[in-house]
Amino acid sequence: MGYITEVGYLVSAFLFILGIKYMGHPATAIRGNWISAIGMLIAVLFTFFHPSVHFENLWFILLAIVLGTVIGLYLAGVVKFTEMPQMVSFFNGMGGLTIALISIVEFFTRGIVSEVEGGFDWFFVASSAFSGVVGSISFVGSMLAMAKLWGIFESSKRSIFIRVFNALVLLSILIIYVLLIINPSPYLLVFLFIMGGVLGFSGVFPIGGADMPVVIALLNAFTGLAASIAGFAINNNAMIVSGTLVGASGTILTILMAKAMNRTVLGVILGGFGGTKEAASNVKGNVQEISVQDAAVLLAYSKKVIIVPGYGMAVSNAQNEVHELEQLLESKGVEVKYAIHPVAGRMPGHMNVLLAEAKVDYSKLYEMNEINPEFKNTDVVLVVGANDIVNPAAKNNPNSPLYGMPILEVDQAQNIIFMKRSLRPGFAGVENELFYNPKTRMLFGDAKETLKKLISEIQNL
Ligand code: NDP
Repeated sequence: MGYITEVGYLVSAFLFILGIKYMGHPATAIRGNWISAIGMLIAVLFTFFHPSVHFENLWFILLAIVLGTVIGLYLAGVVKFTEMPQMVSFFNGMGGLTIALISIVEFFTRGIVSEVEGGFDWFFVASSAFSGVVGSISFVGSMLAMAKLWGIFESSKRSIFIRVFNALVLLSILIIYVLLIINPSPYLLVFLFIMGGVLGFSGVFPIGGADMPVVIALLNAFTGLAASIAGFAINNNAMIVSGTLVGASGTILTILMAKAMNRTVLGVILGGFGGTKEAASNVKGNVQEISVQDAAVLLAYSKKVIIVPGYGMAVSNAQNEVHELEQLLESKGVEVKYAIHPVAGRMPGHMNVLLAEAKVDYSKLYEMNEINPEFKNTDVVLVVGANDIVNPAAKNNPNSPLYGMPILEVDQAQNIIFMKRSLRPGFAGVENELFYNPKTRMLFGDAKETLKKLISEIQNL
């Protein structure tokens, strides 16, 4: 019967890869998601044909599947789009926990059996312990990242104390791992996983601000790595393939995000931006406001407008109004482009997904490096709920936690209109000197409501 399962796994692996290919473009991403989901369903169904599945536990298995499906469907329905990154972190953490639990269960059963038969399976011991410890780092780290994204937890200042502590925990993990291989005790394994959890916490604890996207991608890569190694440990091809796909894509994403942020992955783990909420700032000058009427005139009589969407657009769910404004301006002969920063919003591709949902033409979306040279020839930049990604402190204030992060250089434009509700800072907690720039006008209010008013003003011009 085992070969039936393997054939099912092969089909699901093919569907996972096909799904990822389709996810490569917003126009086909939904199809890609469905294809991958069907691949996962096939993997689950064909697992029932595996000879090691004990049917006396069938009701437990079915109950777990029903519970998981109900919770998953419920969360998909109630979680707001702006809370998606927290949900991704939660799922990622659950993946890590599952792998640690699989390792413990397998170790307690298989490990002890091997002992009775007169010797341990060393490959199994080494690989299941490794996957489990990486899984527990990922579990606790992801839960903490989720809490940080929700604002429950703030980052502490990086200190030499935390670095020394992390180095000691890592060293103790290595020692326990070696001891475990010499003497495979299940209790040592549990201790190893607890220390993994401690490292997950203390490793992510000091990371914050602009480094968060990189750390979330890194934890994702960890879960994938843990799953694929657990797959080798228990000889499960579906886990090997899906884990490798997650691990590889998570690693590529981590490298791309780190590159986009002008950081090294090691730099993120060991030190850097920090994310403390008390950055020194160069802020001086007065803030100037603009009325909706004046903003409408400025935009409608421009030649070229660049829209910079950020997290606030997602909070306010204003992507459809942004698209409507873009079409309206174009109907008046204004050239409109979108500038997309790699870490705008709260997850990779956040703005692309929202704008694709609003049916914005993908060819109007420009990445940071492409659009930056264009700002100086732009009449108006309309910043819709973005903040950190346009903060010049990233370029010119070495004391800022954002320093070193590449930004959209909107300060080069002729006029800047900032749409947000107040002068409050963004995710990194850093004041934005651009609010005080003589070229900047603040258009205070909820982005969606303000855009609706702006659209109706422009229509009446
Ligand atoms: P920011 O968090 O810097 O700023 C968002 C701004 O939106 C806030 O200043 C807020 O101002 C405004 N806002 C909130 N609600 C509304 C609303 N209803 N209407 C209008 N404005 C609103 O977002 P950015 O996109 O500029 O930058 C992303 C930040 O998130 C970066 O620091 C990045 O490192 C971090 N991050 C990114 C991740 C990713 O993968 N993309 C993951 C984790 C973190 P106000 O309250 O005054 O309205």
